[in-house]
Amino acid sequence: MIKKVLIANRGEIAVRIVRACAEMGIRSVAIYTEPDRYALHLKRADESYSLGADPLAGYLDPLRLVNLALETGCDAIHPGYGFLSENAEFARLCEEAGVIFIGPKSTVIHSMGDKTQARDSMRAAGVPITPGSDGNLKDIDEALTLAEEIGYPVMIKATSGGGGRGIRRCDSATELRQQYPRVISEATKAFGSADVFMEKCIVNPRHIEVQILADSQGDVIHLYERDCSIQRRNQKLIEIAPSPSLTPEQREYIGGLAVRAAEAVGYENAGTVEFLLTGNEVYFMEMNTRVQVEHTITEQITGVDIVREQLRIASGLPLSYRQEDISYRGFALQFRINAEDPKNDFLPSFGRISHYYAPGGPGVRVDTAIYTGYDIPPYFDSMCMKLICWALTWEEVIARGRRALDDMRLRGVKTTGTYYQQILNHPDFQRGEFDTSFVPSHPELLNYSEKALPKEIALALAAAIAAHAGL
Ligand code: ADP
Ligand code: ADP
Ligand code: MG
Repeated sequence: MIKKVLIANRGEIAVRIVRACAEMGIRSVAIYTEPDRYALHLKRADESYSLGADPLAGYLDPLRLVNLALETGCDAIHPGYGFLSENAEFARLCEEAGVIFIGPKSTVIHSMGDKTQARDSMRAAGVPITPGSDGNLKDIDEALTLAEEIGYPVMIKATSGGGGRGIRRCDSATELRQQYPRVISEATKAFGSADVFMEKCIVNPRHIEVQILADSQGDVIHLYERDCSIQRRNQKLIEIAPSPSLTPEQREYIGGLAVRAAEAVGYENAGTVEFLLTGNEVYFMEMNTRVQVEHTITEQITGVDIVREQLRIASGLPLSYRQEDISYRGFALQFRINAEDPKNDFLPSFGRISHYYAPGGPGVRVDTAIYTGYDIPPYFDSMCMKLICWALTWEEVIARGRRALDDMRLRGVKTTGTYYQQILNHPDFQRGEFDTSFVPSHPELLNYSEKALPKEIALALAAAIAAHAGL
């Protein structure tokens, strides 16, 4: 069994991994850069090491992190999500140094991280893929010819893309000519690769993804699906498990497809297979070879601790469950509480959290690394908290979400919290009738006002009086 883990990440996911380690008697090592000097993840871990003044360089230096793992006596590295989590070179350096990378083999990360290679593997395995190019596009002429064949609208996508970036929809040849160079330049800047490919744009699809677990013995199971259709700019905002709109047959079928996809590439550890759904059509979109931000809701409905399973699998142990042991109960919602201003095009809103009170009560889980007085640094992702609600029925989980969002106090920065209340109150959402067009097609939901809370007004008054009295 793994004895000591270096956590190559920060924020809530680093805290999440520390928690799993603590429950399993595994020692944890945190890393941080200067802006994270007062971050919670390093206070919660057993040991912590500074990686210098640059906000990002330390978190993104594979060789340095592998060496640090060796120096600190760690036998494994957990990469979390984002940062180096899908960096095949990082996994390869771990393999060479004899440090366990908590994830799949570097060759698998490499082949699934490249979206066109992933499409090839899935085609070969008989998993339906979105119609599109065979491999990367050579030039704009090839793109124009192919788009005529497939039919507009089409998507131009960065082959190494992630985080919703490097994806553009084109509704006509004119738009394709405009967008093609833009995606190339965005891909080069964000992902260091100019490779792009084409997919048919599936109009108003649902984003349905399946959580899988695979051990080193070759056993693969799925933990059912999540519906992540509530997105802005191809990025998830609210995630739901299970999807309120799948039939039992669709659920079995898509779960089976995900297992087949993982088996086809010799997958090991936790992963997610993402699909687009329209009517009865299902298309493979991509595989994320890491723990996902929204793994929490699957944990809530199945009771399986996914990070614990990751640590067990990486230790060479067989899966704790067979497929027939996995069942789900009720519904879970995850709200990504981002430090952003929804009214201002979701512009990041960094700064000091003047007042934080965590929601609680039955069926409420909070995964975060913030606290009152914490300064949200401007260098990282704007997601500062995950609010997860569980209840036995869809109606109850919506009511619980509303109540928990109302309980939450997070002041000093703008957040997406109140906007999510608006979504929960929409009848289409309540009926489970939504797809990826929900957010863009309901701009009116942005017309709300943040209510001033009596207690906070009292608090502000007290502070003003104290300041006036020179206390
Ligand atoms: P998930 O797929 O787990 O739902 P996201 O797509 O939101 O999560 O990505 C999680 C984090 O990882 C975000 O901070 C996102 O910006 C980052 N990320 C994901 N993929 C990449 C990538 N290929 N390059 C850079 N950052 C990425
Ligand atoms: P990332 O690696 O950034 O997560 P994905 O390929 O998973 O990129 O796509 C992110 C989102 O973009 C999807 O959830 C979906 O909303 C939208 N999208 C991607 N490809 C298509 C497509 N072919 N048709 C329609 N929507 C798409
Ligand atoms: Mg994706």
